[in-house]
Parts: sequence; structure tokens; C-alpha cells
Amino acid sequence: MSAKLVMMRKIQVITLFPEMFSGVLNNSMMWKAQNQGLVEFRMINLRDFGLGPRRQVDDTPYGGGDGMLLMPEPLFAAVEDAKVYDPTAKVVIMTPRGRRWKQAIAQEWADGGDNYIFICGRYEGYDERIMQLVDEQVSIGDYVLTGGELAAMTIIDSVVRLIPGVLGGENSAAIESFSDGETLEFPQYTRPEDFRGMKVPEVLLSGNHALIAKWRAENSLKSEK
Ligand code: SAM
Repeated sequence: MSAKLVMMRKIQVITLFPEMFSGVLNNSMMWKAQNQGLVEFRMINLRDFGLGPRRQVDDTPYGGGDGMLLMPEPLFAAVEDAKVYDPTAKVVIMTPRGRRWKQAIAQEWADGGDNYIFICGRYEGYDERIMQLVDEQVSIGDYVLTGGELAAMTIIDSVVRLIPGVLGGENSAAIESFSDGETLEFPQYTRPEDFRGMKVPEVLLSGNHALIAKWRAENSLKSEK
């Protein structure tokens, strides 16, 4: 019997708030993925690369304007540290300016086998020179978050759950919303058959697989995006 070689995927995150990630990455499917050796997460605290005794990471923008920007020195040093650990990892920065995230990209990244380093912006953003080290800019939607952490967690969760072996039922992801690019999942029901007078559609109790498949296809919605 030949054992299948499973490559462990490495995901590193550069952030000023590493503790934000533990609830998401150490529970449910993200925990299972780590426990099964399918993925490894490494948090890098940007503050560790801050300048001077106060470990400064931000400064005011040239040209004026409100707010602070992440300075280039700590950002470059943190990415370089991540690259020592994983030299071929792709560097991804979270930004409302980036490519809009969607299920098809999550699937590509899950299948692709690359490792990733996520940079989470804060304050008004970051010094543009960090783009020298960045491979991809990603946005999770047309709204502004306080920092890149929630965006990075969203992306990590959507990719890692698609890595073969993580979800368990290998078909679960294939029938989910957006798996074909635009269709949303049909309505689903579980026990009891009658809850406060609201009944499960007859066809789902019929045991007739062809009729069930037809009902599901008819009741899948087309995404308006
Ligand atoms: N001044 C920036 C602008 O107008 O685009 C917004 C900065 S935001 C307050 C701070 C950081 O949160 C950003 O640098 C980025 O890393 C992250 N962020 C905010 N919204 C995001 C989104 N929709 N997608 C991905 N990252 C986002």
C-alpha cells in the first residue's frame, strides 16, 4: 500500500494583534487542520520589529493628513523574518484597494500548494514601499475595517477549509454556495419534520433521489453579485 505524501501548508501572519487570531485559528476546522498536520500557523508580532526603546511601528504621513502609517523598517524586517522561515511563501497584503476575494480564488489557493505570509495593515495603512515585497493585494469587500486582521482570518478560513482532508466529507465543499462560481445553496432542513407547524417540504422526505435533486436545483438561487 502506498502512503500518500501530504505537504503541510504554512501560513504566517504579520500583525500588531496576534492574540486576535487564537479564537479563530484554534477552534473547529482550523484547529482540526493543524491537529492533522495539514497546516501550520505562525504569528509574527510586528511590534517585535519596532524601532527604538518604544518599539515604534508607525509615523505620520509625508504631505500631511490624518492618522498614522505603518513604517517601512518594521514591515520589511517582519517579512524578511517570515521569508527566512519559508523562503518561497507568497506575500499578501490586506487592503481595500486589493483584488476582491471570492470563493474561486479560495479554491485556487487551496489547490495551488503555495504557502502564504499575510500582512495586516493598521491605522491609516502602511508605507507604500512595502509593495516591493508584496505578491498579492487582497480586499474582502468594499468597506473599511479597522485593521487587516479580520480580513486575513476570513481569507485563511476560506482557504484552509478547502485543503483536502480538512472538511472530512470530500463533497461538502463541492456543493456549497459559489462552488460553481454563482449558485447559492438550496434551503436545508433537519429534524423535527414539523416544528411549530412549519413542515419540511414533502419531497425531501420522499426518498426519491431524482426528485430531491430536481427540487434542490430548482431551489438554488443565482447570486446577484
Ligand atoms: N486608509 C485606508 C483606506 O482608505 O483604504 C484604510 C485603512 S484601514 C483603517 C487599516 C487597514 O485595515 C488597512 O491597511 C488594511 O490592511 C485593512 N483593511 C481595511 N479594510 C479592508 C478590506 N476591505 N479588505 C482588506 N483589508 C482591509
